[in-house]
Amino acid sequence: DARRLQQQSERDELTGLPNRSQAQRRIGEYLEGRRGPLALAFLDLDGFKRINDSLGHATGDALLKAIAQRLAHLLRSDELLARFGGDEFLVLLPYPPALAERRAGELLAAITAPFEIDLREVHVAASAGVSAFPLDASSERELLRLADIALYRAKSSGRGSIVRYRPEMGEAANVELEVELALRLALEQSRIALVLQPRLSLDDLHCHGAEALVRLRGVDGGLQLPDTFIGVAERCGLMPKLGEQVLTLACAALRQLRDVRPDFSVSINLSPLELRDASLPARLEAALRTSNLPPDCLELELTESALIEDPRLAALRLAELKACGLRIALDDFGVGFSGLSHLLEFPIDVLKIDRSFVSRMLSDTTANALVEGLVTLTRRLGLRVVAEGVEDEACLARLRSLGCEEAQGYSIARPMEAEALLAWLRTAEDARPAPRPD
Ligand code: C2E
Ligand code: CA
Ligand code: CA
Repeated sequence: DARRLQQQSERDELTGLPNRSQAQRRIGEYLEGRRGPLALAFLDLDGFKRINDSLGHATGDALLKAIAQRLAHLLRSDELLARFGGDEFLVLLPYPPALAERRAGELLAAITAPFEIDLREVHVAASAGVSAFPLDASSERELLRLADIALYRAKSSGRGSIVRYRPEMGEAANVELEVELALRLALEQSRIALVLQPRLSLDDLHCHGAEALVRLRGVDGGLQLPDTFIGVAERCGLMPKLGEQVLTLACAALRQLRDVRPDFSVSINLSPLELRDASLPARLEAALRTSNLPPDCLELELTESALIEDPRLAALRLAELKACGLRIALDDFGVGFSGLSHLLEFPIDVLKIDRSFVSRMLSDTTANALVEGLVTLTRRLGLRVVAEGVEDEACLARLRSLGCEEAQGYSIARPMEAEALLAWLRTAEDARPAPRPD
């Protein structure tokens, strides 16, 4: 009876695989027996949460079972597969690291073949982190920790990758942890700030709107750039909180600006994660309502990466947002995917041409031709076109002659806090030349 109880307590109910405690016991036994090299491979499904969210938990469970079955089928007698929790599996591979890594690759490849769940084809990929005994560590706990660090790396380097633990990673993981901690604190202590960068309308040379860019205010008052913390926020699950604060701050700034400039609008950047959130339209509406703002004063900037991962979901969400009266801008256009078909498939209102083209357009005829073509095309499609990263007046003049509608960049103004923007609006506009009569 005792044995049966132990067996039960060491099985994962859903998949029937050994569970975490059995895996830990088996690693311990293996290490004690000094039976030679052992590698641990943590396997974690990519985007499993999205499958759960979009297809439902029952499908998610069925998929986990099917994966367990397929992997178990491939397993050799000296290997052990365990479900470690959630969508995480652990494989014990009694080989030297290089061989173990290859074996983990085979298992990952097996996962990428489609599964049939409830008559539906489901595609999934997984990433893996590998640690090795005796090379990396000699205790079960440490081996697991290092495999986890490697997995973390694999996850941030994209889908379907395998990463073998390397000692430098320990430190990098600590840096990431520090940023996470700083971000958590900043969120709790209301030290998230927004700066606004004016968007200049090139027909009347007036500023009717600005882009909101998030900053983390350090305890010393300094403002930290988003490159350092957006990625961390996405990976450690803080994006919803951060996005919420950005929205609240943007609405507050809009309220302040529109009291002086009733036609002023603000654009905010949304991470692909935020677009997936089903509650986004309702949250945006509520925030606008609370600040007594009409929906057409808020524009949402999205990059194409937010659209392509799950185009159906993206199209659905964009349609919902449009129905709320919000405007959609496609950000950083020209780099990355830049599918012109996206302009037709998705309800886009504004196209923002990436600064890498804009900054080169005076010196590089190809860049110039590209900008010119994009401006013409975008206008023909009835979209508004914005050039980003305008760093000198000559470039601004060229954009204007090409018929580009809006420009944004250091030559117009750097991003600044709302108070400073109010002052800038008063002075800069008096100084700007009156619009040329066309
Ligand atoms: P982005 O949306 O492409 O924002 C434009 C970036 O270019 C900003 O950097 C801005 O300061 C910078 N910039 C503006 N004019 C010029 C110029 O003339 N020359 C040059 N070299 N740079 C210029 P920032 O504020 O560091 O933002 C970086 C990125 O962080 C943004 O790129 C955006 O992808 C992301 N981000 C910023 N705020 C948010 C936010 O609230 N939420 C999310 N999800 N992402 C954000
Ligand atoms: Ca942007
Ligand atoms: Ca951009």
